[in-house]
Amino acid sequence: MLAFLCLSASFSGSILPEANEWRDYSTDIIIQDKVEAKKLFKYYFESKGFKTGKIKIPELNVEVMLEENQFYKREEYIMDVYERINEIREQFGLLTPYDDYAQGYGWCGELEAQCSREKAYGYIVLIDKNLNNASMIYTKAHENGHFLWYIDKQEIIYQKFKNPHLVKSKIHTNEDFGDLCGWIALKIANYNLNECFIMNTENPETETRLARLRNLVENYLRD
Ligand SMILES: [Zn+2]
Repeated sequence: MLAFLCLSASFSGSILPEANEWRDYSTDIIIQDKVEAKKLFKYYFESKGFKTGKIKIPELNVEVMLEENQFYKREEYIMDVYERINEIREQFGLLTPYDDYAQGYGWCGELEAQCSREKAYGYIVLIDKNLNNASMIYTKAHENGHFLWYIDKQEIIYQKFKNPHLVKSKIHTNEDFGDLCGWIALKIANYNLNECFIMNTENPETETRLARLRNLVENYLRD
């Protein structure tokens, strides 16, 4: 049995640190041009535990190279994903709490920071601690799938299939893509996909959609 719930809509928000907050990250740098904005972004995100450069997603057997204004952070074994989202929002000065409370096992958020006229992006993946092995694998791959979608690196996943164009034409939303990644990871981990059922779907449309994506992986993923 797969327990799986992605907290809705993979929240995306804008963080606009105040001028004095930027100052905390640099007492010497006066923000004048791009180079300095880039340095500030790096200080800012690295001080909050993000990294840039090469990011590995072992569940999907892929690695991606981030642009210098893209930053990534993965937090696993979270006690309560919903609460952690609000802590993060607070940490980034987004004071409005995430409004509709929901039980969720995973989340991927995108934060946008601006300095001068430059922009940078932080991506956070949160994974719940209370998951069985299959659900853990599925959730990690699903949420990191959202991350790949945000940074526009879906192709690296489509290339894992015998017919990348066909698979691509069947993926309509970020959620489809996340679920495709979930099934891929289970297949990589040697689960028999036909024995995996997602719990609590209740919605027959969701069930059909998930089965359709599972079949794509079952039929077209390269060995
Ligand atoms: Zn999702």
